[in-house]
Amino acid sequence: MKRREFLKTTVLATAAVATGPFPARANPEKPTIRQYRKLGKTEIKMSDISFGTGKLPSPSMVLRAIDRGVNYFDTAPDYGSSEKYIGGAMKRIQRDKIYIASKFCTPPSYPSHLPPGSRKKDYIQAVEGSLSRLKTDYLDVCFVHAIGEMSKDRDAERKRLLDPEMLAAVEELKKAGKMRYLAISSHGPDNMEDLLLDAVRSDHYDVIMMAFNFMKFPRAPEVFKEADQRGVGVVAMKTLAGAKDMSLEFKGAPFAPAAFKWVLNHPEVDGLVITIKSVGDLDLFLRASGEAPSAADRRVLDQYAARYGKLYCRTGCSSCESACPAGVPVATALRYQMYFRDYGMEKRAMQSYAALNRDAERCLSCEAPNCTRSCPYGLPVQALLRAAHDDLSFAV
Ligand code: SF4
Ligand code: SF4
Repeated sequence: MKRREFLKTTVLATAAVATGPFPARANPEKPTIRQYRKLGKTEIKMSDISFGTGKLPSPSMVLRAIDRGVNYFDTAPDYGSSEKYIGGAMKRIQRDKIYIASKFCTPPSYPSHLPPGSRKKDYIQAVEGSLSRLKTDYLDVCFVHAIGEMSKDRDAERKRLLDPEMLAAVEELKKAGKMRYLAISSHGPDNMEDLLLDAVRSDHYDVIMMAFNFMKFPRAPEVFKEADQRGVGVVAMKTLAGAKDMSLEFKGAPFAPAAFKWVLNHPEVDGLVITIKSVGDLDLFLRASGEAPSAADRRVLDQYAARYGKLYCRTGCSSCESACPAGVPVATALRYQMYFRDYGMEKRAMQSYAALNRDAERCLSCEAPNCTRSCPYGLPVQALLRAAHDDLSFAV
């Protein structure tokens, strides 16, 4: 029996008995994964479209995705109930047929990355916590998450990625068989490419996950080339450039699969992780698996760029922030608004915004919006920040 057939049979047979509402047979008309790619020099062969569980609705979604061939699940302790839901599906999963990536974070709300100064035991406890919630005894991948988010100072973040306490914990966890590969992720906003290059060159990391999409990432080739040369796997995220219009299509080419095909058309990218919230997402997103971009795909991306290019705060950019005398974290506030408006993660976005040291309240009365003048992409930054504050603050 081939791997896919085995997986499908195992999951469906057990799911049907244990949970009732699952379909007795997978619908052959539904899109499935058609391509698996080796993740750098790891032993992982990941589905090209993989599951970001930032808004995982239930354990059953995990099983449905596995049935369609998705085999890589990106989770984190601070993604709400994500780890618990995967754990809830675990007894119906053949563990060695899927890959689980989690992060050195603590529950429950995002962002709760382990801060600088954390001790070896903190890193070990974080992984133990994940294993317990996931109901498994090992992680395939564990991430130092969101490098470039905790400090504007490259050296400070560099210390986080090379922290001897973290590396000692990793060594112990690997020896104990509790994690297989060390990884690092970044969506900026500061020094994204430089920090990822630092990680790749350190030889401590097996995988990087980087924000990457069709809306201009000029230094991505530099990072990809170095990762490729050193056998470091590359996973892409934030591939929908803000996900501002999921209904956009051109001559039957829907926007989301076109954006994924564009990303996966880069041979150094081993796979992408996308937040999947429903069966509808699965149906739409998996249409991109194993497919090269068509002329219609390129046109729909052009249309998106024309409509939303002046509304989408570029992931990995923080160019305007130095122009703000009040130190408003423009990129982070606008990213949280993206989670709120475009990703459907309202609660998480509001909690994350509330945890910021400085928010965009001061933009309401700012009379010298230097940020707007400084954005090279022409975004009406002050207006966007005012709207973000309105969306994200708990004040009534
Ligand atoms: S509007 Fe003013 S306070 Fe707000 S980010 Fe721009 S410069 Fe800073
Ligand atoms: S508003 Fe413009 S300059 Fe500021 S972070 Fe976003 S894309 Fe960059």
